[in-house]
Amino acid sequence: MKKQIIGLVVTLIIIVTACNSGGEMRTKTDSNTKTETQDNFQYFVEKFADLKIMRYQVPGFDELSLEQKKLVYYLNEAALCGRDILFDQNYSKNLRIRKTLEKIYMNYTGDRETDNFKNFEIYLKRVWFSNGIHHHYSTDKFFPDFPVEYFKELVDNSPEASFPVEEGSDLTQFTHEMQSLLFDPNIAPKRISLNSNEDMIKNSACNFYENVTQKEAEAFYAKMIDTTIPQPISYGLNSKLVKVDGKVQEEVYKVGGLYGPALAKIVYWLDKAAGVAENENQQKAIHKLIEFYQTGDLKTFDEFNILWVEDLESRVDFVNGFTETYGDPMGMKATWESIVNFKDLEATKRTQIISENAQWFEDHSPVDDRFKKKEVKGVTAKVITVTQLGGDCYPSTPIGINLPNADWIRKEHGSKSVTIENITYAYDMAALGNGFLEEFCYSPEEIELSKKYGFLSGNLHTDLHECLGHGSGILLEGTSSEALKNYSSALEEARADLFALYYLMDQKMIDLGIMPNLDVAKTEYNGYIRNGLMTQLARIDLGKNIEQAHMRNRQLISKWCYEKGQADNVIERVEKDGKTFYIINDYNKLRDLFGALLAEVQRIKSEGDYEAGKALVETYGVQIDPEIHKEVKARYEKLNLAPYGGFINPVFKPVYENDQIVDIEVTYTEGYAEQMLRYSKDYSFLD
Ligand code: ZN
Repeated sequence: MKKQIIGLVVTLIIIVTACNSGGEMRTKTDSNTKTETQDNFQYFVEKFADLKIMRYQVPGFDELSLEQKKLVYYLNEAALCGRDILFDQNYSKNLRIRKTLEKIYMNYTGDRETDNFKNFEIYLKRVWFSNGIHHHYSTDKFFPDFPVEYFKELVDNSPEASFPVEEGSDLTQFTHEMQSLLFDPNIAPKRISLNSNEDMIKNSACNFYENVTQKEAEAFYAKMIDTTIPQPISYGLNSKLVKVDGKVQEEVYKVGGLYGPALAKIVYWLDKAAGVAENENQQKAIHKLIEFYQTGDLKTFDEFNILWVEDLESRVDFVNGFTETYGDPMGMKATWESIVNFKDLEATKRTQIISENAQWFEDHSPVDDRFKKKEVKGVTAKVITVTQLGGDCYPSTPIGINLPNADWIRKEHGSKSVTIENITYAYDMAALGNGFLEEFCYSPEEIELSKKYGFLSGNLHTDLHECLGHGSGILLEGTSSEALKNYSSALEEARADLFALYYLMDQKMIDLGIMPNLDVAKTEYNGYIRNGLMTQLARIDLGKNIEQAHMRNRQLISKWCYEKGQADNVIERVEKDGKTFYIINDYNKLRDLFGALLAEVQRIKSEGDYEAGKALVETYGVQIDPEIHKEVKARYEKLNLAPYGGFINPVFKPVYENDQIVDIEVTYTEGYAEQMLRYSKDYSFLD
């Protein structure tokens, strides 16, 4: 599971990090020294449509040994080789479309200074960003801002381009086909449709099912899934479900199978990585992952996950594989992703304290004792520095990850939870002084708190969400982990967020020395409610509902607490200068509400109470108040900010002496389009 950036944009001036002993606070940097300590690094790169492109730095890379640097480099390469897989998983036509647009971009001989061409360029940049023609977040198809006839002009004036024209077709037919794919609102309008009243598979453009209805898919897996097995595999995770000659069957992702050429390249680099692994456990894990890619056997995948989760010694670590199921309306098929990283030793002391006390948190949580873990196993948490983002983590990236996802592995072997601090830091730095807080905070005190504690409170929320929240609780015997179906993602995120919110306001956090005072918690509560009831709506088109799981979860929590606390005026809606604000009048009562909702959401998950889960999400998480929506959009637009962000990767290059790698160099100068075109040239292994 992964966690995305909570606020749209966070502003900070003072960054405070906690030391492990005695709760002494250390100011890392402040408004006066910031530029000096950050050597004028340009975090913000460019903005187009609703997107902001940024860079992140990799501090501490030079401290790694040469072998560790090589390991990072090989894993980085493996991270880039699966990019095409994701494009194809998102929509079967994405790769052809991307290749066509890139050919035009590189070969067009007409005027490149016209508005039409500039809009073509923006469209291509959006396709790169979303890994396809559907918005990465809303999953709606987006459209070019140039006339459909102009597309023909682009094709006709790109004489040197070798377009992917299919056999038996010609350039005219090809142009027509592309025009329909790009411009027709009735073709593949949505990547993921979560409307459970209709056939979700048929209404979703994602490429996990072909010629199969939702009923057929459900029947296929109902037959396969056995809830009495204590260690079930992740059914259907790494395959496409197809119907051939009337028979429903899986096409498995593996070397020699579906996505074979890309997976073979990944295996090539993983093999090199295994050669410089830090220790035997890590080497075994990498070899097991290779075996999984070669066989596609999900039992091998579980074995890999166990080896991976038990490797705690290594400083360098990675995610590489078919991991998260957010992209499948049925919540079964995983998109390919990769993240390479190494441990931030200093900041990890903070998360270590949290994970060492995991049992205390579990025992004292407000959920029913029947749903608690009697023995919390191996929750390990660390703060990491990312070196490369790939697949479904690029360019839009999570800020926290907790894996593996299989419930039984988490229960028996624990899970690894990470907070990605060089990414959250870059987000904050790129947002400096953008006017967001001034617009949406009610009082100067609220702004002050956010500036003072925003970075720490956000990171602590991520620590608790990933390290404790997702790892907490158990399913009652006989409850299937698939019981909550299309509502499972939103409810799971709600559970993790509630766990974090509940404990942020706990004296224990101060006693453990990871938080200086409860103002940090107040900061997070302010930001969470502000975002859940208002600011996140800036991301959604007027007239639309909330679909994305994390956003549903945040509104669900905020709205539920607003409503349930109304008698006590816990959260108050106020108007000032014609603008709406939500202020928290009673932080302790709000905490009690978080606790009460946590207890209910945990019950729903533990018992697999689909109807109650559905009611909760549909009542509080989906519908938007149209008046507030309009107001937020208008206020947000005035600030001229991009509601979504993503990152350019640094470039890692080996330095050779006599055919031996003697160092790995990192540079940060590559541009966005430049990087995307290079990836398409060097890491494109699928048609
Ligand atoms: Zn999460």
